[in-house]
Amino acid sequence: MKVFISCDIEGISGVVTAASQTSPDGRDYGRARDLMTGEVNAAISGAAKAGATEIVVNDSHGSMTNILIEKLNPAASLITGSPKPLSMMQGITGEFDAAIFVGYHAKMGEVGVLSHTISGASVANVWVNDIPVGETGINAGIAGHFGVPVVLVCGDDVVGKEAKALLPHVHTATVKWAVTRTSARCLPPPKARDTIEEATIRALSSLGEAKVWLPESPVTFKIEFKDAGQAGNAARLPYSKVIDGRTLSFTADDYLTAFMGLRAMIGLAGR
Ligand SMILES: [Zn+2]
Repeated sequence: MKVFISCDIEGISGVVTAASQTSPDGRDYGRARDLMTGEVNAAISGAAKAGATEIVVNDSHGSMTNILIEKLNPAASLITGSPKPLSMMQGITGEFDAAIFVGYHAKMGEVGVLSHTISGASVANVWVNDIPVGETGINAGIAGHFGVPVVLVCGDDVVGKEAKALLPHVHTATVKWAVTRTSARCLPPPKARDTIEEATIRALSSLGEAKVWLPESPVTFKIEFKDAGQAGNAARLPYSKVIDGRTLSFTADDYLTAFMGLRAMIGLAGR
């Protein structure tokens, strides 16, 4: 059994603020990346106990150089650094049996801890084939393109509900409960790690019930930017379509190409 793990930081227990915890110049960034490494290690440990023979972890936050490799559970290998063509899903192939998301957060607009969708500065909403999606859905579709089911999503209670609404079979591990977008009731690290390890074993032990999620082709990503200037910049992408002053769409025959269009539009939006 081969297991792919995508690990973000905003959904890690104890992490609630962007300025001091999730950016490298923040006062508590060092602590946050240590906590992130601890939670991903719990998923690795659970996967190994469930029988995984190969585990690949993809660092999926910001510069994608957050996870401390010197503290990584040696049962896994680590994809670190950026940019990467598949971004938060770099490394996924059809050879994997399951994908797990650790440290994930709710989509923009939800009262989930540090909720955003890819870019907090420019993205208001994303839909795929008219289904509202956050990073959980967008990345589940990439796994789906390769025929891989997402079996577990770890993070706060809000991302757990978002994941369940889209992927009814999915297991969740809740490590914190949002109070506001920048506050939460959090499990202490040992308890968060136990929760994730147990959920990983449970999810991989019931792999037979997991379902691949892949929107039908042709695939259309629709993106509402925060302002019209950003949408105007993004409209420079060939084959993008203007819906209104802040909203564009991009359609392709396959999910991966549509995702590349989404990424390109978000990249152009800030320039
Ligand atoms: Zn992140």
